[in-house]
Amino acid sequence: MNKIISHASNKDHYKADACITWCFDNRFSSALEAFTRQRGYAQVDLIKVAGGAKGLADGGGDSLYLLDQIAKSIKLHHTPRVVVMAHSECGAYGGSVDPAFYECELKKAAGAVSALFPSIEVEAVFADFDGIKLV
Ligand SMILES: [Zn+2]
Repeated sequence: MNKIISHASNKDHYKADACITWCFDNRFSSALEAFTRQRGYAQVDLIKVAGGAKGLADGGGDSLYLLDQIAKSIKLHHTPRVVVMAHSECGAYGGSVDPAFYECELKKAAGAVSALFPSIEVEAVFADFDGIKLV
């Protein structure tokens, strides 16, 4: 292998403040930064996938994958809380702009996490082009 970048990464293990399932839509990446800053989350295990919480709400294979990722965050980094996210105009949802629809989806996603990890705090958030709302 040829080194292409010299960079010192922190070798210390950490306790994650949250495991966050966020949509990879880059229009909401700065909202994620604002959210983690506002919450004071210094260490985050980020699961960035199309639709954010959609896979959890849908059940099936995507749900199993995401729940497994969350389980690993809890096991490896003693994560006390999970954040599930959806956003307006999400392409994974066909671009819906209906906040009530996303609220329903987020409640399903949060319920799927709580059912498997009853001792973990679960927060559901909806992002639009004005900010982030707690569901
Ligand atoms: Zn999206």
